[in-house]
Amino acid sequence: MCARILIALGGNAILKKGQRGEFDEQMRNVRGVCKQIVEIIKMGHEVVITHGNGPQVGNILLQNEIARDQVPQMPLDVCVAESQGMLGYMISQALQNELWRAGIKKPVVSVITRVLVDKNDPEFENPSKPIGRFYSKEEAEELMKLRGWKMKEDSGRGWRRVVPSPRPIAILEGVTVKHLVDMGAIVIAAGGGGIPVVRDVNGELEGVEAVVDKDLASAKLAEVIKADIMLILTDVEKVALNFGKPNQRFLDLMTVEDAIRYYEEGHFPPGSMGPKILAAIEFLRNGGKKVIISSIEKGVEALEGKTGTHIIPEASVSRTIALIGE
Ligand code: ADP
Ligand code: MG
Repeated sequence: MCARILIALGGNAILKKGQRGEFDEQMRNVRGVCKQIVEIIKMGHEVVITHGNGPQVGNILLQNEIARDQVPQMPLDVCVAESQGMLGYMISQALQNELWRAGIKKPVVSVITRVLVDKNDPEFENPSKPIGRFYSKEEAEELMKLRGWKMKEDSGRGWRRVVPSPRPIAILEGVTVKHLVDMGAIVIAAGGGGIPVVRDVNGELEGVEAVVDKDLASAKLAEVIKADIMLILTDVEKVALNFGKPNQRFLDLMTVEDAIRYYEEGHFPPGSMGPKILAAIEFLRNGGKKVIISSIEKGVEALEGKTGTHIIPEASVSRTIALIGE
């Protein structure tokens, strides 16, 4: 069966832990991922790709800061846009080459994507998302005073700037992305969670210095393009209960209701697995048929049902049970 699949690539798809991030190194990683994506396309599926941008936007921020006496600094929304351009180019280039090698003729397009957020989102009062490099306490105090940044101590590793991570309300380019997919294009969109924008009192759009979670934005996009499946590829093969503890247990299958219960029990922390599970719940409640969470390396196998954690709407379980009962 051919499905419409949104593939959400985690940060380590492009830059693995411990790598410095030279262009060739990132490109090699991207090529590896694109080989997998082409396998999925060969199965006949329609594909939309979203991706993280943590390390890349961190580097762009650092470049801005180091060069700020010579080149005017750009606000965070512009830096996110730059990272979308850079990664969108790298992914589309690698993907197009892999498709060509496989003898598949399909257009690939990267869409600079904006995400509407609410300017009254509580995150603007209480920012939670650490970005960029670490600073000493003295540097942090200076930056808070001089630049008005909000900064927090990050688990003994030093001080980091924190920015708001408001919930995505709508993907502004969402319907256009759907049209592109309908006409047969492979689309890369909502990179880094999208560029956050708010509507001002006059109804005009304005970028804000914030970041949107890539998994939550992916769920919104998946909904608009009417995706059947959301395939979230990260660096763990399966989702676990009691993750990292002696009684850790990996999950093969859970329903939305299970996911909510485990979430409330605290198995999925904010900033890592938490948003993926929230994204899964939201997508499945809004018409999605399945969410699969697995590692980049196991993407194809997970889609074939051989591994990964599969999350399904409650209704399909009762249907399966009903069928078995007949
Ligand atoms: P990505 O860049 O793909 O979004 P994240 O680091 O944000 O990756 O999230 C994936 C990480 O979540 C895993 O590497 C793992 O360490 C962590 N994690 C937290 N809780 C769980 C859990 N219950 N099961 C599996 N992994 C978990
Ligand atoms: Mg993440």
